[in-house]
Amino acid sequence: MSAPIVLVGGGLATGTAVRELRTQGYDGDLVVIAAEDHAPYERPPLSKGYLLGNDPAEKALVNDHDWYAAHDVDLRTGVTVESVDPDAHTLTAGGQEVAWSGLLLATGATPKRLALADDSGAPVHYLRTLEDSTALKEQLQPGARIGIIGGGWIGLEVASAARQADAEVVVLEALEQPLLNVVGPEVGALFAQLHREKGADVRTGVRIEGISRGEGGATVTTADGETLTFDRLVVGVGVAPVTDLAADAGIAVDNGILVDSGLRTSAPDVLAAGDVANVDHPVLGHRLRVEHWDTAIKHGTVAATNLLGGKAVADHLPYFFTDQYALGLEYVGHPGPGGFERVVITGDTEGPVEGRTFRVWWLRGDRVVAGMHVNDWDAIDRVRELVGTEVDDAALRS
Ligand SMILES: Cc1cc2nc3c(=O)[nH]c(=O)nc-3n(C[C@H](O)[C@H](O)[C@H](O)COP(=O)(O)OP(=O)(O)OC[C@H]3O[C@@H](n4cnc5c(N)ncnc54)[C@H](O)[C@@H]3O)c2cc1C
Repeated sequence: MSAPIVLVGGGLATGTAVRELRTQGYDGDLVVIAAEDHAPYERPPLSKGYLLGNDPAEKALVNDHDWYAAHDVDLRTGVTVESVDPDAHTLTAGGQEVAWSGLLLATGATPKRLALADDSGAPVHYLRTLEDSTALKEQLQPGARIGIIGGGWIGLEVASAARQADAEVVVLEALEQPLLNVVGPEVGALFAQLHREKGADVRTGVRIEGISRGEGGATVTTADGETLTFDRLVVGVGVAPVTDLAADAGIAVDNGILVDSGLRTSAPDVLAAGDVANVDHPVLGHRLRVEHWDTAIKHGTVAATNLLGGKAVADHLPYFFTDQYALGLEYVGHPGPGGFERVVITGDTEGPVEGRTFRVWWLRGDRVVAGMHVNDWDAIDRVRELVGTEVDDAALRS
């Protein structure tokens, strides 16, 4: 009897891979080991439906609780994998040795810490786990003063949830616009406008000089000499891939676990997927590690196929979505190391941003390197069609 396939991680990549293994007919032993006390779950609701109080935690589960037993999967939650021995095809988890025939590392990412905030003793929140979201949700009360450090996707989604709870919100962004490095200044300005229109105080180009524990909360001083007081601070300044396990096992890592286009690591029979995987992308022609819901799903499927000896390739273009207030968007593509040279925005230019319908195209020369629609739900096929192609600007307006 061969050793089980073992999947490490409690997120969407693992949850998808385990389901896919059974769907593809694998009937051997299957073990899932997840450090959190939950069956694998997806995280977008933690800054949206669950944080807003609209959806229960169960809605975030990738597979129902009963699914694991019904499909004869040995689900071990609250158990951390401590080490992996690729040569021996074993790992240790919770002090026990577990043999594996194939191994998936889907250890995800963890929020970057802000020492200035952590060392201050002030009440600081990060947002990655269900518990983080529950703790933050309790604080999003009418009139609560919520300071958000970082105007990235997480910071802005938290701002949206906090404003919808009638909290007072100040977003402190170091760069000249929120999301500047992802979408550029024009579109970043639209997001700043969206949040200002909804009553958030969005401050850009802010340098934080100090954070201290203030009366019942946090006091932030900026380089401009301003002092701001908050009941709670939320820090959303990016995430780092969780690579220690792989690195300690001698598996190649560099901004994530290095994998080929089939998600295979440098160690035989060990694959990596999701936020932690830095993929040699066959279409984009460069390495890619993204933190997207859709990638975790696509990787989960590719990893399952290849754990069973298949030849699947992770060649999908990156896709992500966000919901803020009543605005929703979908983005496809990746500018890559070459970046983008110009941005074309088509559609509504007037009225509150939340209600506008428009499309954004990022171009290098005539090549569309990324595209996005905002509130234009029939547009995603057109966005997918044009990304990666060379166009004249007229085509972008059709
Ligand atoms: C609040 C929030 C909102 C988001 N919203 C969006 C969105 O709107 N759109 C979008 O495209 N993406 C969004 N994302 C990103 C998306 O959720 C991630 O890309 C996705 O969760 C990645 O899944 P994963 O399985 O790779 O990793 P994760 O979900 O991070 O799961 C990794 C798991 O591995 C476990 N683990 C780590 N080390 C070990 C170990 N040694 N032993 C056992 N277990 C271990 C961790 O505890 C964790 O449970 C959001 C993320 C967050 C946090």
